[in-house]
Amino acid sequence: MNRHVAIIGGGFSGAMQAVQLLRRGVGRVTLIERAGAPGRGLAYGAAHPTHLLNVRAGGMSAYPDDPGHFARWLEARGDGDAAAFAPRLVYAEYVREQLREAMAAAPGRLDLVEDDATGVDTASRGVAVTLANGAGIEADAAVLAIGNSPPKPPRMLAEADLPAERFFADPWLPGAADGLARDDSVLVIGTGLTMVDLVLLLEQRGFEGPILAVSRRGLLPRAHAAGPPPQPRSAVPTGAASRLLREVREQGEANGWRQAVDALRPVTQRLWQSTTPDARGRFLRHLRPWWDVHRHRIAPEIHARLQAMADKGQLRVAAGKLVGAESRRDGVEVEWRPRGANGTDRINVARIINCTGPEADLRGTADPLLRTLLERGTIRPDPLGIGVDVDGESRVIAADGRPRDNLFAVGPITRGSFWEIVAVPDIRSQVAGVAARLAED
Ligand SMILES: Cc1cc2nc3c(=O)[nH]c(=O)nc-3n(C[C@H](O)[C@H](O)[C@H](O)COP(=O)(O)OP(=O)(O)OC[C@H]3O[C@@H](n4cnc5c(N)ncnc54)[C@H](O)[C@@H]3O)c2cc1C
Repeated sequence: MNRHVAIIGGGFSGAMQAVQLLRRGVGRVTLIERAGAPGRGLAYGAAHPTHLLNVRAGGMSAYPDDPGHFARWLEARGDGDAAAFAPRLVYAEYVREQLREAMAAAPGRLDLVEDDATGVDTASRGVAVTLANGAGIEADAAVLAIGNSPPKPPRMLAEADLPAERFFADPWLPGAADGLARDDSVLVIGTGLTMVDLVLLLEQRGFEGPILAVSRRGLLPRAHAAGPPPQPRSAVPTGAASRLLREVREQGEANGWRQAVDALRPVTQRLWQSTTPDARGRFLRHLRPWWDVHRHRIAPEIHARLQAMADKGQLRVAAGKLVGAESRRDGVEVEWRPRGANGTDRINVARIINCTGPEADLRGTADPLLRTLLERGTIRPDPLGIGVDVDGESRVIAADGRPRDNLFAVGPITRGSFWEIVAVPDIRSQVAGVAARLAED
């Protein structure tokens, strides 16, 4: 089939989108990645050797029709089995190998372009992708696989005008853990997975000073544990959300909360799509922090390292709110209010690192591509404001409310429509579905 598909973003989603399109016989694929070598993305590229996957190898296959693929690959290297939490850098090697093999099997059909895509024009039958270097790529269709955006700094810190070495708004940029004295104090905003990565990086660098991690509720991601596999639900639960919540709690008490949460996995996307926008909004407002820490868990060994840091008094995870931050000659004086307290506490820190997690709201984004697409009405935010609006086939819905046949979006930016679309087991099915659809057209 002599079609040409351009993919913007070469993380896991974009790389596997390319592999699936080549496997389906699509004539030509162009994969555009601004950060150089595709196949790593933010998740597996910015990792340190001690950063582990937060899903067991048995759940990390790149292929929906071969769920044991990654575990076999890992085992063949002698690096662990299906129960292992492999290093994220090893996973990047795996994804890159899938891309290399697909290229070798389809010689001359995949072009890798190292550049920033700045626009996509979908006005005609095909699409025209603009690159930062001024060049353009004409294709029959394009797929947005642009992944996770950097976190948005809390307004108070953005406005505090702190020196760059005192406030790191983006923890994924190189340097966030560099240049600290061994016993400096650090304040981390956020207590989720990004905070976990950052704290482990500090520990790995030999940092011994106190770390205070603060978020509104002070919830830390829970740990995975060995146990029998969940009894997956096959039917989408119906009825009021409050009834489902009660049922999940009861199952949690009977079989353990991990089982109760994991049992929902096969039906989460359909459950999300079957609820009203109002119910989804209430879920985001009230339950999301609890869902996130129970659903997106960390490897037991990572949990143990954090616990050891907490036990020796180095790491404190707290619920609270920042009240003020002022630059001082030797650091930043921070005022914060512990949750439930009337008064505030003050601490002096050498650095504040923003680990509030990927920013999902497109409105106000600084990303040139997203801004252009929004301004031209090529894309629109989903009704909840947590990503790009797409239909059930991942076709982008333009500002006129109509899905485009020549523009798709995959990966975490489609979470408003699918919710459970952030991790590999869901993305691998999504990209396979998009490839099947593009191969048909
Ligand atoms: C730190 C971290 C750890 C994670 N660990 C796990 C895990 O263990 N297991 C799991 O299942 N999931 C994990 N995830 C979830 C993760 O969302 C998915 O696994 C997956 O990696 C998402 O891939 P992606 O390609 O959609 O996004 P990303 O990895 O963010 O990649 C997007 C890519 O697009 C490129 N890009 C963006 N805009 C442009 C543009 N305009 N032009 C050109 N290139 C562009 C970026 O440079 C980037 O390389 C993790 C996520 C993070 C952030």
